[in-house]
Amino acid sequence: MFSINLLPSVTYISAQEIVNSYDTELWINSLKTNNLTSEYQSIGKTPLGKDLHFFRIGKGSSKGKKVISVMTRQHPPEISGYKAFQAFTGELLKQNEFTEKFFKKYEIWVFPGINPDGVDLGHWRHNFNGVDLNRDWAYYKQPEIDIITEFIVERAKKNHNRIMLSLDFHSTSQDIYYVYDKSFKSKLKNFSRKWTDIIDQGVYPFKTVLSPEPLGKPYSKTWYYKQFKAESITYEVGDETDRAIISKKAGIAAVSMMQLLSQ
Ligand SMILES: [Zn+2]
Repeated sequence: MFSINLLPSVTYISAQEIVNSYDTELWINSLKTNNLTSEYQSIGKTPLGKDLHFFRIGKGSSKGKKVISVMTRQHPPEISGYKAFQAFTGELLKQNEFTEKFFKKYEIWVFPGINPDGVDLGHWRHNFNGVDLNRDWAYYKQPEIDIITEFIVERAKKNHNRIMLSLDFHSTSQDIYYVYDKSFKSKLKNFSRKWTDIIDQGVYPFKTVLSPEPLGKPYSKTWYYKQFKAESITYEVGDETDRAIISKKAGIAAVSMMQLLSQ
């Protein structure tokens, strides 16, 4: 318990750094000078009229490229996951020894905030309609999920893309990788174990739990498998995880993903 002296103006109380949809837009704008990024756009509007942002990281034409989808903040207060998402994306935009080879085959589709209404309202799990968006990926009843899934399917069809991998950044009580259990034969079926091993070695002795799970609930992870046979990993970050570890780990994750997928 703690006491608060309320001021006449509005007082915000927050357990994590506050990052609202405007802050996310400022971050998106700050990337626009990077020549690996392009196609900045709003793919649709939320119930409160906010933009659902998208941009591409890649080189040259999109035609026939393999695709990695990266998204975050289905759940508004999951700031440590958002920090990892930012560090991961930032690292992809730096030149490294794998950049050329990786972007010949792959491009990244970035969805930097798919629940801006929930974020700005300070919701715990829900969007404006009071629904957990990460339980709507089989129903498409919520505009945010309807818009993003249609955008992905249509864009992939138009450019003859193959959706290979989805990364969805979240937060919870500790660092966890939710992966498919071994019975699932995705297009990148050995990727998740190899990748998470490399990340873990890079931040040793910091430990992340590897948690294989069956498909079932209408998570984004289930949708990517059912729709595309894509590999999909829910990248969970502990609420209290040291911010320096979050950045270091996400940086290693970005470079090692490029390394593994450009082989
Ligand atoms: Zn979450």
